[in-house]
Amino acid sequence: MNVIEVKGLKKSYGDVHAVQSLDLTIAQGEIFALLGPNGAGKTTTVEILEGFRKRDSGEVSVLGFDPQTSGHQAREWRNRIGIVLQSAADAGDLSVIETVQHFSGYYSNPRDVDEVITSVGLQEKAGALIRNLSGGQRRRLDVALGIIGSPELLFLDEPTTGFDPEARRAFWALIENLRGTGTTILLTTHYLDEAEALADRVAVINNGRIVEISTPEDLGGRATAKALVSWRDGDETKTQTTDNPTSLVSKLSTQFSGEIPELTVTRPSLEDIYLTMIGGTHE
Ligand code: ATP
Repeated sequence: MNVIEVKGLKKSYGDVHAVQSLDLTIAQGEIFALLGPNGAGKTTTVEILEGFRKRDSGEVSVLGFDPQTSGHQAREWRNRIGIVLQSAADAGDLSVIETVQHFSGYYSNPRDVDEVITSVGLQEKAGALIRNLSGGQRRRLDVALGIIGSPELLFLDEPTTGFDPEARRAFWALIENLRGTGTTILLTTHYLDEAEALADRVAVINNGRIVEISTPEDLGGRATAKALVSWRDGDETKTQTTDNPTSLVSKLSTQFSGEIPELTVTRPSLEDIYLTMIGGTHE
């Protein structure tokens, strides 16, 4: 079953064609990452799917509903969705636990408040006022508010911006847990390692169009990309790209009678591939 179906989506702001004929299908239980440079059209697309912006044309179905539907049906639909915006938590005079409790009241099937606070690593800050939280802690609270309603579909907009490395890893573990519950997740991120760690599939979007949709492993022909072998020969650093690094290394090893000075063998990272993909067309 597809949780999200988008066909021929278009949205312009005056002369700015933010989204130009975009097609997208996301299956139930999938973790899907939307990647793209600033201004590519990610937020516009996601906010149309969330029902916060109106499209100009195209077909959109989210959990079987058109997000532009209003009234009673829209409230039921919203109950099944979790959204982590750039910053939802601005009730500065409430504590963490009060805020999470307050939000849990909006949903018909909320998760346990303490459990959610623990799952985002804020148990020691449960009684703290929001205005006294650090930036990364506020972001964790945003995530807690996104998942408190046991959503079937979770939108995460740059969820780990401002997190320290340990908090990012903890957040990734939290997402893996949600994967286990069958939650479908649409993630936007500027961190390629995050997309690689979490996403089943990624879409690269640029100038309002999808450049490619693929698994992180296969994006841009990455799985079959040539390896770059580099080594030191006297004063010179030498490099060679090859389909068959093992035989090159073996040849070099014979040439050097053993250890090859400063040997490295690398394949393009997801970031290398991504930068190549958007490099040619980025305005
Ligand atoms: P970022 O990574 O910076 O968040 P994005 O991929 O989310 O970027 P969007 O916010 O969707 O990009 O913007 C796409 C284009 O539409 C940009 O050129 C932006 O300036 C323009 N745009 C977005 N929202 C509006 C608006 N409300 N009014 C006018 N132009 C807008």
